[in-house]
Amino acid sequence: MKLTWFGHSAFRLETGGAVIMIDPWLSENPSWSGTVEEASQGATHVIVTHGHADHIGDAKAICQSAGATLISSFEICMYLGLEKMEPMNTGGGVSLEDFHVALTPALHSSSLDGYDLGPANGVVITPKDGGRVVYHAGDTGLFTDMKLIEEIYRPRVGLIPIGDRFTMGAHTAAIACRKFFNFDVVIPMHWGSFPIIAQSLDDFIAEMGEDAKHVRPMTPGETVEL
Ligand code: ZN
Repeated sequence: MKLTWFGHSAFRLETGGAVIMIDPWLSENPSWSGTVEEASQGATHVIVTHGHADHIGDAKAICQSAGATLISSFEICMYLGLEKMEPMNTGGGVSLEDFHVALTPALHSSSLDGYDLGPANGVVITPKDGGRVVYHAGDTGLFTDMKLIEEIYRPRVGLIPIGDRFTMGAHTAAIACRKFFNFDVVIPMHWGSFPIIAQSLDDFIAEMGEDAKHVRPMTPGETVEL
């Protein structure tokens, strides 16, 4: 399984025959200087966690140019109105060819240009080739039901927002990772992209204490093999 980060909450996950773009905010993302085309080449699926511009990003264009399937809340699917879609809602799962995908609660909002775009979600991707389960928390505050996400899906890779202000910050993100999950790998996201959110990982790594060894800092454009 290959995972690429483009800064903010935008990732590309390759597992089996699937190329999954998650929250593909690329063309307007100050952390990513490459093109949408190179980032999303061969995309088969696009997952959008919630209806904010920095998460919907280039989802529609990627689905249209690559013929990828949009996976998102029912409301975002109807709003974007694409040909290939898997409309879902919080708590539900869908089994696809190369992976199972589930939407999980997130403590956040989801609206755009006056449209209510349904609940904000996190997403759990379970590869069918036996690869590690990936949890992308979306934008969220800390909530105790995260322990149910651990109990149900046992994610071992956590993509966790740490930037504060709009999401969990260093202290609360570390509580989530240390108290509610059992990640092998924690990749911090939603930091360093806007000037008004955290600009460094130092506080988060300090809050992680002896579990800091699980933190895998990434730089935009970097790919890790998991
Ligand atoms: Zn948001």
